[in-house]
Amino acid sequence: MREDGDRKTPKARSGLRIGVLTLQGDYAAHARALARLGVEAVGVRRPADLEGLHGLILPGGESSALLRLMQRWSFLEALRSFSAGGGALFGTCAGLILLAREVRGIEQPCLGLLDVAVERNSYGRQRESFAVPLAVPVLGAAPFDAVFIRAPRVVALGPGAAALASYGESPVLVRNGRVLGASFHPELTEDARLLAYFLDRIVSRGAPA
Ligand code: GLN
Repeated sequence: MREDGDRKTPKARSGLRIGVLTLQGDYAAHARALARLGVEAVGVRRPADLEGLHGLILPGGESSALLRLMQRWSFLEALRSFSAGGGALFGTCAGLILLAREVRGIEQPCLGLLDVAVERNSYGRQRESFAVPLAVPVLGAAPFDAVFIRAPRVVALGPGAAALASYGESPVLVRNGRVLGASFHPELTEDARLLAYFLDRIVSRGAPA
């Protein structure tokens, strides 16, 4: 496996309690990716499951379906408290939409924890799904193969957020302190560098970038 994170032993991560929101979407792929880095994922289906977690991954899927389930259990409030209490968050694709400050073009609530505005399904019909080698300087020189599946586009970046990678004009990997969002699906490739970055540089370090 090719990843900077391999320099750390799995033991250094074994104390981390990382949840994956398992309401809907491709959470199983995230759990497998975590397992490859020596971290056993905690399935999160209810706000009470957040207790004791250091970080949470919000998977891709369908953000409107995810929201319906989340609102049933007051998850939006619970995640805002989790974040305010120091919990780290990583949203991929639909997860990024949930984290955003604003969803443009459609009436849809969001968490407001990542200072970006997003537009759903915004990469064009013929390009609904595609993969590109992406330059991600925080992960080192080798490009990261980014898989986009009916991906959201970041259409505005607020002062709280920094773009860690862009595709064309648009940021596709964004960090806002202890909150990380990707338009693409890192869990669908073997390259564990981005997940290792989240675990080692965001979850493990108490302080924002
Ligand atoms: N198109 C989905 C949405 O708008 C996101 C797709 C994905 O997560 N792969 O919620």
